[in-house]
Amino acid sequence: MSRATDDKMPAGTTAGTPQVLLTHHLKQLKLPTVLREYEKLARECARDGVDHTRYLLRLIELELIDRERRTVERRIRAARFPAVKSLDTFDFTAIPSLNKMLVLELARCEYILRRENIIALGNSGTGKTHVALALGLAACQKGFTVAFTTAAALVNQLMEARDEKRLLKMQRDLAAVKLLIVDELGYVPLSPTGAELLFETFSQRYERGSTIVTSNLPFEDWTQVLGSERLTGALLDRLTHHVSILTMNGDSYRLKQSAHRRRAAGAEQNQATPAHATD
Ligand code: ADP
Ligand code: MG
Repeated sequence: MSRATDDKMPAGTTAGTPQVLLTHHLKQLKLPTVLREYEKLARECARDGVDHTRYLLRLIELELIDRERRTVERRIRAARFPAVKSLDTFDFTAIPSLNKMLVLELARCEYILRRENIIALGNSGTGKTHVALALGLAACQKGFTVAFTTAAALVNQLMEARDEKRLLKMQRDLAAVKLLIVDELGYVPLSPTGAELLFETFSQRYERGSTIVTSNLPFEDWTQVLGSERLTGALLDRLTHHVSILTMNGDSYRLKQSAHRRRAAGAEQNQATPAHATD
């Protein structure tokens, strides 16, 4: 391949002062990977006869790859997921009512570019939160900002923000995130003010960003949570204008797993219960 013009270390890399200065400058420029890798990579490139331009290219590529990884990690932390779950660990055969192709298509995140919404409906334990988390993770990996919350927590935070006169800022922040995930709409009935604030949040995001909502209640029962027919109608109108609906009715995965475990434990007469029963 390319011939080394000089098989010695690049000038200065072994001397004290330039190294100290370089370390300082690379820190200032926020190039931690370059700082960590430049000496090792220089030795490898010298050994393999790789020229300076290619050496620099490799070094910069390492920094770019690392930077992207760090950005994804930051986005995941900012999203405040209660757990990190992916579709790799989701067993689609456990929930036949769910359209697997649709979920895989949604994991490509193109709906976020179109500012469309997702609603996952189904009884408890069918994997709604798992799928919402997995879609949230996919969005972080694809470069979108994500925020995860439950309907009850969101409404509490909005009411608190209103009392502390920072509602506008919170609403602006919520409107800015590319994907907002609102889990568990339906478990807790909302106060009239709470319902109004939730409606405003969805309204402000309408055609500006994507929202995922999960609920244990079918649409016709949402009035029970939101309190008013008029508000429910207006909210559903905005949320469902551009929407993919994930139907997730079936047996609770949790219950099925614990039944499996009980049976396995009973059969083996063994105290060491496996963490994950397999089919
Ligand atoms: P829901 O939000 O619908 O009540 P969850 O997503 O919280 O249900 O699921 C309950 C538990 O079961 C979680 O730990 C989840 O990861 C797991 N789970 C549910 N469905 C599946 C599935 N099809 N494959 C793998 N794990 C699942
Ligand atoms: Mg859930």
